[in-house]
Amino acid sequence: MNRKTPEWELYERVVARMLVDQLETDLCVTPNARIVGRVTGVRRQVDVLIEARHDTDNSRRLIVDAKRRARKIDVKDVESFRGLMEDVGATHGYLVSPAGYTKAAEKRAQAAVSIRILPLDHLKDFDPSTWPRCQRKGCKHGRVFWDGYPELTMVLQPLHASEPVHYPAVHYVGKCDRCGRFHVQCLVCNDILAPSEADNDCGHQCSCRPPWFWLASIEEDDDGYDSAELHACLMTGQVITVDRRSL
Ligand SMILES: [Zn+2]
Ligand SMILES: [Zn+2]
Repeated sequence: MNRKTPEWELYERVVARMLVDQLETDLCVTPNARIVGRVTGVRRQVDVLIEARHDTDNSRRLIVDAKRRARKIDVKDVESFRGLMEDVGATHGYLVSPAGYTKAAEKRAQAAVSIRILPLDHLKDFDPSTWPRCQRKGCKHGRVFWDGYPELTMVLQPLHASEPVHYPAVHYVGKCDRCGRFHVQCLVCNDILAPSEADNDCGHQCSCRPPWFWLASIEEDDDGYDSAELHACLMTGQVITVDRRSL
């Protein structure tokens, strides 16, 4: 069943999408993230979360608040955003709005917050309802937001040739924009897999039967904070973390 995506949600997703296109590939992007606050202990909603892709490392975390509305960003907006940043341990924040900001807001933002203007015309031709549906049972209206494109290589030894042949296999990796479940699409067979970070999920392999499988898990950083991580597990024993989201 299709539903009409609310404008504020479209605005959040377009901001997230643009960030994926602009950021280095060693950073991953999570739309509609939920992180337990370090100060409040309460789960906080974050419009867009940007963090290290390959490490269980939360020291470079950035967050984005996308405010789709007609009035300018004011001091109060900046202050509550700075409170959120502190609570979720973000080192820098971006406040994005189509309507600009007041002089006082700019002063209050200081070096920790960057205020950006993104006009609404970016929403034209932007349609998340064309993204794949979340495969988790019970997830309503979730769509898969791709934020990474890892390439893994199959090395095959042909019977009658001396040199092994390398077949690159490109994947999309990302997560549901509602429940956060990881998804992987193999671009050779087009299978979409949805590994769960629950303990009883032993991994997923696409129909190509490549020498790797996909596994999600919960990992703890040095300060005791958890993140969900998606790994490519190679038959050689190598494990590559390809996507993350803090919890
Ligand atoms: Zn979902
Ligand atoms: Zn495949």
